[in-house]
Amino acid sequence: MNVKISTSLDGLKDGNDSIRVDQKGRGTFDTIMNKIKLLKSIDHPIDGFTVTVTDRNFHLVDESIVDLAKEIGVKDMAMDFDLVRSIGITTESCVEKILLLRHYAHQKDLNFYGTWETPFRNLMSNSWLNTPHAFCPAMEGKTLEFNVDGSLKTCGHTNTVVGSSDTFEECFTPESKYSQLIESRLPGNNDFCKGCEIEGSCAGQCQVTLESSRNDNQLVGRMCQLMIATTRSLINEYLEGR
Ligand code: SF4
Repeated sequence: MNVKISTSLDGLKDGNDSIRVDQKGRGTFDTIMNKIKLLKSIDHPIDGFTVTVTDRNFHLVDESIVDLAKEIGVKDMAMDFDLVRSIGITTESCVEKILLLRHYAHQKDLNFYGTWETPFRNLMSNSWLNTPHAFCPAMEGKTLEFNVDGSLKTCGHTNTVVGSSDTFEECFTPESKYSQLIESRLPGNNDFCKGCEIEGSCAGQCQVTLESSRNDNQLVGRMCQLMIATTRSLINEYLEGR
C-alpha cells in the first residue's frame, strides 16, 4: 500500500499553539505529537509535515522545527506563509526565513519545500521547448475531481466547476470550460502575468490561490512579490553554488 501520511505542525509548542487551536481555543501541539507517536507505534509513521507561518508564529519558527523533524524521523518538511492572515511580515523577512531553514534542512538531509519553490523548480527541471508545464498539477491537466453531485473540478480545493460526470467526454473538447480554463492560464494568455519575469515558470500560481485572492489586489501583489523574490534568491544561491 503506497499511502503517505502527513500532518500540519506549525512549529514547536509555542509556535504551533499560537495559531493551531481546537474549538475551545486550546493548543493542538501535544495532541498532534501524541498521534505522530501512535502512528509510529503501529508501523505507519508519518512521512512529513507542513508548517504554516503567519504574523503570530513567524518569530517562533526557526531551526528548532527542523531539529524536531529529524527527531520525529520524517524526510519531508514543507513551509508556507499564510499571507491572507498576515500583514505584518515583509517579503524580505519571508525570503530570509526560507533561505535559512532550507539551508539548515539540507544540512540535516531533509527535503524542505513550499509553494514558493515551484517557479524555481519549474525553471530548473522543465522547458517549454520540450514539454508544457504549469505551476500546479491541476493546470497541467493531471488532476480532476469527481464530486458526489456529479460536478467535475480541476482539484479537490477549487470552486471552479469545469464539467459534469454525465457528459464526461465533453469535458475535453477544445471549447469546453476545462480546456478553456487551462488555455487561459498558459504563458502569454493571462493578461495579469504578461511580462512578469517568471511568467513561464509561474504563470498565475495556483488556481485556488487565485480564486481566494481575486478581489484583493494587495494580497495578490504580496503573493507575487514573494514568488518573484524567492525565485531570484534561489537562482542566486544556485549560481553561487550554495
Ligand atoms: S508572480 Fe504573479 S504576475 Fe508573475 S507569473 Fe506569477 S502570478 Fe503572474
